Formats: sequence, structure tokens, C-alpha cells
Amino acid sequence: MEFLKDQNLKELNRICKDNVLTKVLLAKFSRWKIGGIADCIVRPGNTKEVAALIAYLNTNNIPYLVIGSTSNLLFADEGVRAVILQVGNRMSDYMVTKDSVWVEAGKWVPGFARNVAQAGLSGVEHTAGIPGTLGGLICMNGGSQRKGIGSNIKSVTAVSPTGKIQTFRNGECLFKYRASAFQNNGYVITEAELEFNQRKDYAGIRDEMLKILRERRVKFPQNMPNCGSTFISNPDIYNKYGPPGAVIEELGYKGYKKGDAVISKEHANFINNVGNAKASDVLWLIKNIQKDVYQKTGFKMEAEVKYVNPMGKVIPATNVSKN
Ligand SMILES: Cc1cc2nc3c(=O)[nH]c(=O)nc-3n(C[C@H](O)[C@H](O)[C@H](O)COP(=O)(O)OP(=O)(O)OC[C@H]3O[C@@H](n4cnc5c(N)ncnc54)[C@H](O)[C@@H]3O)c2cc1C
Repeated sequence: MEFLKDQNLKELNRICKDNVLTKVLLAKFSRWKIGGIADCIVRPGNTKEVAALIAYLNTNNIPYLVIGSTSNLLFADEGVRAVILQVGNRMSDYMVTKDSVWVEAGKWVPGFARNVAQAGLSGVEHTAGIPGTLGGLICMNGGSQRKGIGSNIKSVTAVSPTGKIQTFRNGECLFKYRASAFQNNGYVITEAELEFNQRKDYAGIRDEMLKILRERRVKFPQNMPNCGSTFISNPDIYNKYGPPGAVIEELGYKGYKKGDAVISKEHANFINNVGNAKASDVLWLIKNIQKDVYQKTGFKMEAEVKYVNPMGKVIPATNVSKN
């Protein structure tokens, strides 16, 4: 590991209480089952540990990136030469007070939606079944039914690229459709405070969530590694031609493959890994679909999926210049 010395690894282990993995094969570790070897993955346990980690990495000029559960990430075939900071289940505490919920960013979203509903609060039903951590959901302003988690955010606590703990109010998070300030500012989200509506009928909230889960099971491919929607639904294309899945289907892409990367037959905006797909296969499909859609509609679709390059930079998969 050229960018990390033994002394660096020792310090990362000290800060993270030995929650450090080395030489991890991303083709086994990641949701899409794609990617080369990640040299180092650290799993901090609270905001203070994140701050100490980042301060150390910054002082020693060691590159890093942050991930949640990798549900929206395509890792490079060459692997990653940067420290991967995973905010996951070591940071998944939460607390409900009346209509607000404080939660750590590593909390698993489907579990969070259930916990919030059980507390008699409504407004998070649309996130039922979204595989990811709360930090990833906030960064992506994820949600379903054209909603985003941003509308429930009161404040977000995050660690700056120099290791300072800061709190952002909703307006400072710059939430837009599937976008937020955290996609570009290098901060690591560690905690959030959300607000919901108090309702007395838990059964009504639960029924709504079960309905959404049933619809997801019918609409989306099950049991195949993928990263959910590949392209963002752009309102201009949506109004004229429909959602990305319909536009891609119209072009005859369903079932189309490159290597082991296959456009889902159930939903044309999903790319399944049916064996040993490579990131280069997925990027090839993305590039060609984007080109064909542009030729047909005059609109350039943007990827919702993010590519992690070998240096650890996280960029929209449509902005990758190679392939
Ligand atoms: C089958 C399937 C269905 C899906 N359905 C939906 C859906 O209905 N709606 C939807 O919105 N998404 C959906 N997704 C996409 C994905 O689940 C969401 O984007 C999810 O919020 C990503 O969370 P994650 O923890 O896996 O983040 P990751 O994929 O690990 O990371 C995503 C982005 O968030 C950043 N990030 C992660 N954690 C943090 C943090 N703590 N601080 C700062 N930045 C962070 C990463 O750097 C990266 O840029 C689906 C994915 C799959 C596989």
C-alpha cells in the first residue's frame, strides 16, 4: 500500500478501535458485486471518531472518501487507493422526541422507516424498502414517489474536510431532486435531526408502507446485484417522454448486455450484474444509452449512480471520461 505506511494503519486502528479492514475485494463487498481491491476500509463508531480520523488523514495528506452501504456506487475495476470511511452499523443509534427524531448516519433506512412509523410518526413511508444508510440517503436526497428525505430534515451534523464538527440547517443543505450540498463538499454526515407528523393510527402508516413495499417488489428486479435506478429522472424528459426506464425501454434496451452487465427485463433503468460484470461494462452501457437517448430526444440524461475512481473520487457515472 503505497499511500499508507504501517504507522498510518496503526493510527487508524487506534482511532477506530481496530475497526479497520485491509485488501478488501470490492467485487465481494459492494452491493453491485463489482470492483477491484480496496486497500483500506475504516468503520468509525461516532462523530468524534470521524472527526479524529479526518483530522489525521488531512494532516497527513492521505486521500479518503465516504461510503454508506454502497447501494448507489460503482467501484473501479482497478480498486481504490484511498482510505474508505464507511459510516455504517457502528453508528446507528436513534432517539424519538415527540415529532422529531435524532439519528446517526449509519442507520439502515428500512429499519429507520419502521422505527419512525412505530413511534406513530408519518412522512417517512416513501423510504420503505430503500436499501441504504441514512447518511447515503441524505447525501442523495433519496426517496420514492418523487419525494426526497430532504423535506424532513431539520439539521445535519457533518465533519468538514479538516475534521471540524459542524451543524447545517435544512436551507444550508441545498436539497434538490436527488442532490444535496454533501455530494460535492467533502463533508462526512454523522448525525441528523428529522421532523415528521404525529399521527395516532400506526395501522394506517403501516398499511401505506406495506403498499409501497408491494409495489417495489413488482416494479423492481429482485435477487440480482444492481444499484437501483441508473439514471436520474429529469423533469423535462419526464414531461415529454416519461421516466428514464420507459425511454430506455422504448429504445429496445431491455435484456441488452455487455459482458455480464445486463439491462433488466423488469425495469430498463436497472443494470443487473448476472455474474462477473466489470465496471467498464456498466460504464459502456451507460455511455451508449445516454448517447442513444440524446439522439432520440435531444436530452442528456445524468447518472444517479456514482462511480468511485481508483484515486477515490466519487463522480456521476455519466462524467467518466474513459471507456
Ligand atoms: C434495489 C435498489 C433500489 C433502490 N431504490 C431507490 C429508491 O427508491 N430511491 C432512491 O432514492 N434510491 C434508491 N436506490 C439507491 C440507493 O439505495 C440510495 O441512493 C441510498 O440512499 C444510498 O445509500 P448508501 O448508504 O448505500 O450510500 P452509498 O451508495 O454508499 O453512497 C451514495 C453517495 O452518498 C455518499 N455518502 C454515503 N454516506 C455518506 C455520509 N455519511 N456522509 C456523506 N456522504 C455520504 C457517498 O459518498 C456517495 O456519494 C436503490 C438502490 C437499489 C440497489
